[in-house]
Amino acid sequence: MTPSSMKTTCFMCGGRLTTARVRVVRQRGDEIGLFDAVPAKVCEHCGEQYVGLKAARGMETAMAAPEKPSRTVKVPVYALQEA
Ligand SMILES: [Zn+2]
Repeated sequence: MTPSSMKTTCFMCGGRLTTARVRVVRQRGDEIGLFDAVPAKVCEHCGEQYVGLKAARGMETAMAAPEKPSRTVKVPVYALQEA
């Protein structure tokens, strides 16, 4: 997830970016927020997502605000066993 506004090619691989609506996972400490249908640019080659500054700020605001989310989903936490 790389914040960007006016890119046309992927910073990671140089692939072409297309406009899409994506699901974004944001984390603030132990708090995790899911955002659906976030306007973004997505690399056609590697799938890297670039969210615009406006959308990024909107997500920050939504998570900082004491308003209730539209719905809540359970998120399991797994501890990876060392092999
Ligand atoms: Zn790419």
